[in-house]
Amino acid sequence: MSTGNDVKRHMDLNLIRNIGIIAHIDAGKTTTIERILYYTGRTYKIGDIDEGNTQMDWMEQERERGITIVSAATTAFWTPEVVQSLFPVEHRINIIDTPGHVDFTAEVERSLRVLDGGITVLDAEEGVQSQSETVWRQADKYHVPRICFVNKMDKLGANFLRTVGDIEEKLGARTAVLALPIGAENTFKGVVLLLEKKSVIYDNDKGEKFDLKDEIPADMQEEFDKERAKLIERIVENDEVLMEKYLGGEELDYVELKKALRKAVIANQLVPVIAGSSLRNKGVQVLLDAVIDYLPSPVDLPAISGSDPKDKDAILTRKLTTDEKLTCLAFKIQTDPHVGRLAYTRVYSGILKSGSYIYNATKDKRERIGRLLLMHANQREEIAEAYAGEIVAVVGLKDTVTGDTLCDEENKIILESITFADPVISLAIEPKTRNDQEKMGLALKKLLDEDPTFKLATNHETGQSIISGMGELHLEIMVDRLKREFNVDANTGKPQVAYKETIKEEATAEGKYIRQSGGRGQYGHCFLRVKPLKQGEGFVFINEIKGGAIPREFIAPIEKGAKEACENGVLAGFPLVDIEVAVYDGTYHEVDSSEMAFKMAGSFALQDAAKKAGLTLIEPIMKLEVSTPDEFMGDVIGNLSSKRAQILGTSQRGNIRIITAFVPLAEMSSYTTILRSMTQGRASNVLLPSHYEEVPRNIIEEIVASRQKS
Ligand code: GDP
Repeated sequence: MSTGNDVKRHMDLNLIRNIGIIAHIDAGKTTTIERILYYTGRTYKIGDIDEGNTQMDWMEQERERGITIVSAATTAFWTPEVVQSLFPVEHRINIIDTPGHVDFTAEVERSLRVLDGGITVLDAEEGVQSQSETVWRQADKYHVPRICFVNKMDKLGANFLRTVGDIEEKLGARTAVLALPIGAENTFKGVVLLLEKKSVIYDNDKGEKFDLKDEIPADMQEEFDKERAKLIERIVENDEVLMEKYLGGEELDYVELKKALRKAVIANQLVPVIAGSSLRNKGVQVLLDAVIDYLPSPVDLPAISGSDPKDKDAILTRKLTTDEKLTCLAFKIQTDPHVGRLAYTRVYSGILKSGSYIYNATKDKRERIGRLLLMHANQREEIAEAYAGEIVAVVGLKDTVTGDTLCDEENKIILESITFADPVISLAIEPKTRNDQEKMGLALKKLLDEDPTFKLATNHETGQSIISGMGELHLEIMVDRLKREFNVDANTGKPQVAYKETIKEEATAEGKYIRQSGGRGQYGHCFLRVKPLKQGEGFVFINEIKGGAIPREFIAPIEKGAKEACENGVLAGFPLVDIEVAVYDGTYHEVDSSEMAFKMAGSFALQDAAKKAGLTLIEPIMKLEVSTPDEFMGDVIGNLSSKRAQILGTSQRGNIRIITAFVPLAEMSSYTTILRSMTQGRASNVLLPSHYEEVPRNIIEEIVASRQKS
């Protein structure tokens, strides 16, 4: 631990790149990050993911599964070295690790929010897979400029230009190919740089040394000319001055071209593409140079805006500089075994100082900053101050959670929070012993704190704890973490689909709770009207009482009664959602009316109205993509048809068929195992939450009947 580096860190903001590596699982993200850490000098030995000792996958369980679940922020330093750079000095690259598995899209979203640029790693043999598409669209949503690294050029079946075609067609990106592969599969030995007209040739797989040659391999000349012409056309398209020179037949200056490309990438008009192989240590330095040359620094970004806590409609903006007032966003909570609760925070403007007090504008609370840590994969460095543009881990924040804005108490601002999808699957969990029971409560609290898509509820009838999340694997990992990190043994029930209740029509009903037998009675009486809302709109309550038919103080209890009735469900005990409830009439009694009586009346009226309003169930629908060898195509489709699937389309790549479909989550239990046994283990699938749809009538009846039994 040292603080001696502060001077070095407090460098110009234009020397910072905050990037994330975004990829489909198995595309080679972990290997690429590891190579980056190796070349930037933070690790001294190239680890290998297959042996499970990488730097980023430092959680034991991730190591075992070989997937990265948690985003960790890592700092590295890099000076461009391969060819002449626009900025030939040392830069700081902060790498936010993002998970590859789609069950953790929330993790991806939250990391994208704080990134300035991204590297998308693709498998040169597989091309663009469906998860890459999902993550690509998420990155689009946050306008994150990207570079594509077409990895695994050494792999059997690797095809660079086909993958570039995929990037254009499936991702809708306009590519700027910067580095073509020399050879492919086991003859892959380096890349040709199109702008520089040079070849980078590695003489072995260790990748420490490469030869930079001025000539292009003779057998690539034609391809080179064609791709270079295309690249230059695409660059000049975005720059009028260059376009004129180009049309006038002038030779274009290398630096000018690079500058124009940088502008186009930052404006999300072009996506540079580089061929390589992380495992064989080829192309990674070229990629790092491109990160510096083409991805934005905090200076290149527009000011950030937020709302004023005193006046929600007022928009405040902050320039991304240290001279501005402090504005930070906490984007990740993690419990570290050594230092405790860490809040990963992006500093957008101002200076964050250890030991100071800051204001959590989202929670309306003062908090004290304990220590500030810079994270280098599994080692950490204590720093005294963090500047605009930096990403740090803060120790000591008690009430801050993911999405909270931290700022100066005198200059309050709330940045837009991070939104997460609702869980689609749940299961009952029961501690094995009394001892486990106590530990489980505390452990679940920590896990909930870390992951906003992981939820806990209690079944009011059985007293059981119910956990829910974004997929079976998500829950499996949580249960595993309980055991591994917190030593809690628990039994779990079968995963249950997160059905919801909703209504289809408008209806009204009366609710009465009147007891008048001796002593002080109870009197609550109201009329409610319910109306369906759009998916995702939840619960909305409107007070339409005029002329005091019901006194003001009883309106809130009616709302509470109606809301609780919705939470408990009317048809089958699932939450009733996307409903507007209006109270429009009622009566009261001078003496006997009470909050309790109106709450009961509200609950009764809601239940009655819902029953008259076309009450139904909706279920999560998943988007499924199956890749299968041709010969099993019929079996796979046949099996899907028996699962209420709606086939969206099929496409062909080599002798692999790709089938996409919408399928209810309820039908997908153990699907991976079923698919494997049907195809001799040769097909694979990806399942993504898509939307909710109404459950067919006969199935609703089954669900209702089984809920009544249990
Ligand atoms: P992640 O799931 O995206 O983090 O991918 P990993 O980095 O864990 O890599 C997945 C698998 O692909 C591992 O077996 C790696 O050894 C392998 N891999 C990664 N990069 C390359 C590459 O450049 N070439 C080949 N042939 N395999 C690679």
